[in-house]
Amino acid sequence: MTRIAIIGSGPSGMAQLRAFQSAKAKGLEIPEIICFEKQNDWGGQWNYTWRTGVDDNGESVHSSMYRYLWSNGPKEALEFADYTFEEHFKKPIASYPPREVLWDYINGRVEKANIKHLVRFNTAVQHVTYDENKKKFNIAAEDYKNQRHYVEEFDYVIVASGHFSTPNLPVFKGFERFHGRILHAHDFRDAREFADKSVLLVGSSYSAEDIGSQCYKYGAKQIYNCYRSQPMGFKWPKNWSEKKQLVRVDEHRAYFGDGTSAKVDAIILCTGYLHHFPFIEDKLRLRTPNCLYPLDLYQGVVWEKNPRFFYLGMQDQWYTFNMFDAQAWYVRDIILGEISLPSIMEMQHHTEKKYLEEKALNTDEQKARFQGEYVKYLISETDYPNFDVDGVHNIFMQWQKHKKENIMEFRDKTYRSVMTGKIAKPHHTPWLEALDDSLENYLDSEGAKEKNFI
Ligand SMILES: Cc1cc2nc3c(=O)[nH]c(=O)nc-3n(C[C@H](O)[C@H](O)[C@H](O)COP(=O)(O)OP(=O)(O)OC[C@H]3O[C@@H](n4cnc5c(N)ncnc54)[C@H](O)[C@@H]3O)c2cc1C
Repeated sequence: MTRIAIIGSGPSGMAQLRAFQSAKAKGLEIPEIICFEKQNDWGGQWNYTWRTGVDDNGESVHSSMYRYLWSNGPKEALEFADYTFEEHFKKPIASYPPREVLWDYINGRVEKANIKHLVRFNTAVQHVTYDENKKKFNIAAEDYKNQRHYVEEFDYVIVASGHFSTPNLPVFKGFERFHGRILHAHDFRDAREFADKSVLLVGSSYSAEDIGSQCYKYGAKQIYNCYRSQPMGFKWPKNWSEKKQLVRVDEHRAYFGDGTSAKVDAIILCTGYLHHFPFIEDKLRLRTPNCLYPLDLYQGVVWEKNPRFFYLGMQDQWYTFNMFDAQAWYVRDIILGEISLPSIMEMQHHTEKKYLEEKALNTDEQKARFQGEYVKYLISETDYPNFDVDGVHNIFMQWQKHKKENIMEFRDKTYRSVMTGKIAKPHHTPWLEALDDSLENYLDSEGAKEKNFI
């Protein structure tokens, strides 16, 4: 029987499992599927751990998420077309749910699909190779629960191992002398640690914006962030200022490109992540910066030099959960023979064209549109339920506008679902005052628990 391996059961791997299950539910015969997951549960980044460094099994901790993380974009932009928030929660909820609420949502869809038995948890893929003679992939895996190392053969492999876990760690002059804590965003877990402290965030993208906002919300005394090319430019609270590039630090102070300096207690490197796949042999390994259209991947998913090898979710992301679905349905249909691929030359030519198209994009509006068009194309090729991608694009544009208006209040806004046509319900407590991010408190219409949360 044909065998398929999926590496990782985060939202992308879960989408792939669900894609095959939906084909099976329609009466199609599907191959044997085995999903390898190094953590003890599914959900990928959304599977929170307080740990940093290594996990129970000595594997590097995967999730970069932290306590009190709330969705940084509207839930209406990531909603599954085959499983709405309304279907899951049975009532309207607000537009920016906390992590636990989103985990519950993605878990709900795949629990309903009854596919958890396809995942081998606590099992890390350590090596993937391709045997040209046999035309098979060999996967070497470590099963930590049963303390067993084994190698199995597969006909197809789908890599869904994420790319926001391996820190990009620049070193600045004087770091070795600094008296405070220096950490990467990957290891940030709880903003309370920085209450009453002066914190420097190195970087000007989503991590700096959100970790800084968390620190502000939970009582940091002073926040600085520094940028290499562009400031974030939001209307920050009074105790937050943006500085030019970090030049050096000494025992207590950070020195910036504009000649100013500041006393800081901690430095958080919000300097991004590396696409890092040490477990994949060189000829199959994706090497790319974080971009919307990586080279070597036809339609963002097919490894051109061996089109029985796939990657999911490897692009920079405007669209997330529903884009992973669109990709997973597309990969499924290639494997099931419903979609045929062009020659390798044609695939490469197409990817290069798209790669250059991306390079010419300047504005966020253009970039979101570019990815939206990509999602539309994938959906048009499969039976994934069609949805109003242009409507989602408009939600992204409103989101950007709301952030510009007030970066500390944008999460209080609500949006209309393109799946159900219904508008979200405002949350019971403004985000800045909502300290309890538990599912229980979030779903309680009165927010009764919030009032007792210290
Ligand atoms: C701090 C942070 C905040 C974010 N906030 C949002 C947000 O608000 N909204 C949003 O839509 N997106 C957000 N994202 C993006 C997020 O990455 C995606 O939503 C989503 O989790 C990506 O899914 P994935 O399955 O591709 O990867 P991941 O979620 O990273 O999952 C990959 C899985 O692969 C497993 N794995 C890795 N290597 C191996 C191996 N060798 N063997 C076996 N298993 C392996 C991991 O354990 C993990 O379970 C955020 C990301 C970060 C880091």
